[in-house]
Amino acid sequence: MISHSYDELLKSKHRLAMLLFFFLNSATALFSMVYPPEKATSTPAPLVIIFVLCCAGLVFSFFSKKNYSAHLNVCSIIIGLFWAWLIALRFQEIGEVDKNYLLVSLLSIFFISAIALSDNFLAFCLHAVPATLCVVFLDDFQHVGRILFTVSLPLIGLWLHHLMLRRSDEFTRRMLANLYSEREKFSDLSMLDPLTGLYNRRGLQNKLETLFSQASGHYVMLLDIDHFKAYNDNYGHSMGDQALVRVSAAIRDAVRSRDVVVRYGGEEFLVLMSNVQQEHAVRMAERIQNKVLGLNIPHLFNAEVSTHVTVSAGLAALEDGNFIHALGQADVSLYNAKNSGRNKIFYAWEATEKPQTLSEEKLA
Ligand code: GH3
Ligand code: MG
Ligand code: MG
Repeated sequence: MISHSYDELLKSKHRLAMLLFFFLNSATALFSMVYPPEKATSTPAPLVIIFVLCCAGLVFSFFSKKNYSAHLNVCSIIIGLFWAWLIALRFQEIGEVDKNYLLVSLLSIFFISAIALSDNFLAFCLHAVPATLCVVFLDDFQHVGRILFTVSLPLIGLWLHHLMLRRSDEFTRRMLANLYSEREKFSDLSMLDPLTGLYNRRGLQNKLETLFSQASGHYVMLLDIDHFKAYNDNYGHSMGDQALVRVSAAIRDAVRSRDVVVRYGGEEFLVLMSNVQQEHAVRMAERIQNKVLGLNIPHLFNAEVSTHVTVSAGLAALEDGNFIHALGQADVSLYNAKNSGRNKIFYAWEATEKPQTLSEEKLA
């Protein structure tokens, strides 16, 4: 996004250069037509062509949204050649009378180039070189050294300026790219839970926004580790953290990569399964339960259920994109699973009891 707007900025800079280029050329051509050099008797064709072309170019560049930088080079050489042609024609007419004609013409061309094309070295050369060569020829190579010296000074200056500009352009572009990737990285990190590496609620929100544009067949599962407070109290908080990490990995392992696994609360997880049939969703829930039990994390204070860490789960179908409703149903099923002894999975569509009242926090 940022690099895109930077390109837009460069494009508008090239567009302004193009407009300025056409404006200066048409104004100079008009001035030459209105105030021709002394002794000049006619208006040469190239002068009219330059004026017409530049006026047309001015209008076109004003309305068009094309690649100005490429067009500028083509326009520069075309207009540059017409200027050279004009100088040759006028020199035949007034060269004998006006000894300074060649010098003044050359300076005019350089003036236009320096003002409009200072950011574009190639266009500068394409515009100025035809007139320079023409002047050198018409002058019978008498002042080649002097002319080349005069011409090469601004060229060298402009070339160095161009190099510096390109470097600063590259630097800005690189800096923007870094900034953009850092921003992406932070945005990704802000969606992950630091302990388990699973999505947090922000990540879930982000996933939900894209999920609902996809096909139906979504299921929401809430999981909660059984008697985890007792685990923490007896084995210590750091062992508790390790158990959380292992259980998270087991859940992630049990589902498909496209399923979204979220650490929804302290020892509570949410799995969002998309494009899946009911029997497969059930099978995945059972797989999670078995994988967690299969970790064989000793939990002697879970004795009424098992001697290892277990989870209880509630599974509900997500219909009509109503996530809050599905979450509520999954929560009621989880509550029922806990009440009926833990280490169980309850399915919302099999519920016979009236759903329990939900806590506000769960729906937040
Ligand atoms: P139940 O079977 O009904 O779910 O009982 P429980 O003890 O698991 O539920 P309860 O809500 O009473 O306790 C949850 C515990 O999870 C309390 C807290 O110490 C622990 N817990 C929450 N977050 C973390 C964490 O990041 N690290 C550790 N080590 N423990 C956590
Ligand atoms: Mg618990
Ligand atoms: Mg809990």
